Amino acid sequence: MSGRGIDACPACGHRVAAPFFDGGEQPLATLAWPASGAQARELERLPLDFVQCVSCTHVYNRAFDYARVPYTTKPNLMFNRGAAWSTFIGELQARILAGVPARPVVVEIGHGDASFLAGLARMRPGGRYVGFDPHGASGVHGDVELRARLFEPALHVAELKPDLLVARHVLEHFESPVAFLQSIAYHAAGAGREVRAYVEVPCVDRLQPTARTVDLYYEHSSQFTTRSLEAMFAACGARVESLAHAYDGEVLTAFVALRAPDAHLEVAAASARYREATRRSREAIAARLDALARDPGGVAIWGGTGKSAAFMARYGCDAARFPLVVDSDASKVGTFVPGTGQEIRFRDWLKDHPVATVIVPPQWRAADIVREMRREAIVPASVLIEHDGDLVDFLAGAHPYRMPGEAAD
Ligand SMILES: [Zn+2]
Repeated sequence: MSGRGIDACPACGHRVAAPFFDGGEQPLATLAWPASGAQARELERLPLDFVQCVSCTHVYNRAFDYARVPYTTKPNLMFNRGAAWSTFIGELQARILAGVPARPVVVEIGHGDASFLAGLARMRPGGRYVGFDPHGASGVHGDVELRARLFEPALHVAELKPDLLVARHVLEHFESPVAFLQSIAYHAAGAGREVRAYVEVPCVDRLQPTARTVDLYYEHSSQFTTRSLEAMFAACGARVESLAHAYDGEVLTAFVALRAPDAHLEVAAASARYREATRRSREAIAARLDALARDPGGVAIWGGTGKSAAFMARYGCDAARFPLVVDSDASKVGTFVPGTGQEIRFRDWLKDHPVATVIVPPQWRAADIVREMRREAIVPASVLIEHDGDLVDFLAGAHPYRMPGEAAD
């Protein structure tokens, strides 16, 4: 949705791709629905700059901009009614139903006119058949429930606990189908279950052997090869139950099972703990600083850029309460702290204007700075560093940063 084109492979996420097909500029081929010949001829031309992922062979238009495709007003009616296609669909529906419980929950992503989902419901009454399609039909019809919205893995995996997700001729329209499947796998792990999926996409294995070009138009911005579909499944840790070609090799079909490793949930839990701890420490440290600012002994902050500037920005060390910022680096003297605006003074300022407290934001440099202060006969009563949600005394407090050559206690 960025309007900046596509810079990572939609299938595998790789970021190196080779120029593949220069289609110049062409109008939308399917979704524009011009109302007259004149309107048709005047349709806006859009760039076709197809590249091929050098890692997985996926073919995609790196100039594609999702915002240029009017899905919101024009349906994508891709289904033909040919006999071969009907046979394929009927066999597929039977195969799907053979692999799910007697009263299944089947979720279709991008249900369109819902004919596929309705067909499943007719063949196997008593189940729950839920469709998601922001531009599709909506409402409840017997066992079929159609929602005119996007399927959101974070909400709907846990809510529906699907026995099977169906995504037919949908993933090739996503900006990042691999991200979508990764999200499903992650939330499947969160729900403590595997989510099976049936995926069907057009296959462009024949493009290069036949040198045909008609597949490559604007709405078809992302085209799977057998290899790129396999790479996408690998990139989301899917267990591939079956992968086959259908319709004379022009369609790829796959049944996969999605469930991310539990380790991913553990990383997320640890992230949440860090986020919460830092939310709390922001308030706690800001309160400590507020008390220090009122200490008549005075406070200096050592360092005016980088980590020190980040410290001052995060904890609100404004120039009114914390006017004194010093640095060991003479080249920074006379510049100003980004955001808070204190002028940075040379550390020697503290010889003539001693303070009770020096705060050293970069913890791992504190030992060097303490040595420098001793050498320069700068002797504050305490040197404080940020640690574990508080400001602690570097020399007397408990923390993991030590003076080299001095024993840890
Ligand atoms: Zn790729």
